[in-house]
Amino acid sequence: MRRHSWAEPYKIKAVELLKMTTREQRDAAIREAGYNTFLLRSEDVYIDLLTDSGVGAMSDRQWAGLMRGDEAYAGSANFYRLRDAVEEYYSYKYTVPTHQGRGAENILSRILISDGDYVPGNMYFTTTRLHQELAGGTFVDVIVDEAHDSQSEHPFKGNVDIGKLDALVDEVGADSIPYVCIATCVNMAGGQPISLQNLREVRAWCDEHGVRLVHDMTRVAENAHFIQRREQDCEDKSIREIVYEICALTDVATMSSKKDAMVNIGGFLAMNDPDLYERACALVVVYEGLHTYGGMAGRDMEALAIGIGESVDDDHIHARVGQVEYLGNRLREAGIPIVLPIGGHAVFPDARRMLPHIPQERFPAQALAAELYRASGVRAMERGIVSAGRDAATGENHAPALELIRLTIPRRVYTQAHMDVTAEAMMDVAERADRIEGLRFVYEPKMLRFFQARFEPVRS
Ligand SMILES: *Cc1c(COP(=O)(O)O)cnc(C)c1O
Repeated sequence: MRRHSWAEPYKIKAVELLKMTTREQRDAAIREAGYNTFLLRSEDVYIDLLTDSGVGAMSDRQWAGLMRGDEAYAGSANFYRLRDAVEEYYSYKYTVPTHQGRGAENILSRILISDGDYVPGNMYFTTTRLHQELAGGTFVDVIVDEAHDSQSEHPFKGNVDIGKLDALVDEVGADSIPYVCIATCVNMAGGQPISLQNLREVRAWCDEHGVRLVHDMTRVAENAHFIQRREQDCEDKSIREIVYEICALTDVATMSSKKDAMVNIGGFLAMNDPDLYERACALVVVYEGLHTYGGMAGRDMEALAIGIGESVDDDHIHARVGQVEYLGNRLREAGIPIVLPIGGHAVFPDARRMLPHIPQERFPAQALAAELYRASGVRAMERGIVSAGRDAATGENHAPALELIRLTIPRRVYTQAHMDVTAEAMMDVAERADRIEGLRFVYEPKMLRFFQARFEPVRS
């Protein structure tokens, strides 16, 4: 079952030409973007590692599927194929399509969360926590402590600390907890997996307390890869079997299909409870669209149904995670501090350790991402204090232990040579790290500030 090489199980059929920029052009571009890589124009970027969201390369089968789009307002054939794929691969009986993951989060949060509720999760995700807060809830981090330590090599840093769940129940009571939300391959922890064993323990805990278990399944196939590699008695199971087993342990799922499932747009809310489905159908018409398209075109639902099947293929997922590990190992060999173990979708250089002269309130990760772009045309994303935002109640900055940049690898898009260029660019930047300056806000949006904030350099 195990593969020694991570070589790609596909070949390239069409290419997209890229513009090569000069350092002067990039200097001007990053200044104009307010030192925020989200505000760069994509045509000024050489290797785009901002995100793995919606930027994967669809297969020829998915492209062919677009031609089978049934663009009926109601009852599209593609909806039924999507629903069947979700049940076949992910076990959930009912599917409500949404325009992307946060659409599903919005609907779920509005249905299940009341004012004053607490929602425990294995580390926050930006949009997930915001929707919980907007619905009147408070997010509570119940991930294992190792997840906050970039140097811990714990094999399952996405695990839930059951003791933290117990402590929360003692404090607020199970009635104030509408659900536990677990993410597979936890994005903000560095793409770190949860084990099947831990998930079974969380399931048992939820049953004991009468609390629902919600699954943010955006990267469930990558999580399955790590379970197959690292967990006892799982090495002979296929990725498809493990994915199904994970999903079957949970009650409800939110999905951003722009990640694992390799489509450019789309998502869904899925569940087994018919009453919950009815309530979701009633709300999806308000915020997304009719319950048989929910903001997606028929053709996109078709591409998604096909992408789900491709995403659980063993050869695909080993090549995908193998490429991420290749980049991570090159950085590691060059002495660049990264989050360990290397995650499933991205490599996370540790800005706190690369730029110890910049205090956290001067945004070292934001400054590092800006400098990497300026040096090389490689675009990364900040995952530190800027992404963490401010506490909804006190207005103070959340100050996360992890101050990282994320080099996120799109699925099936870049070559090994692109990974080499990226590693060399990081080495260049690391060599003159002590000359990188901190930043301060010029403009700070109130919600999800990292997307649109603007900065200027400041001597720290
Ligand atoms: C991307 C993402 C989301 C939100 O999905 P969108 O499709 O971007 O709205 C939610 N959870 C996780 C873990 C994600 O990575």
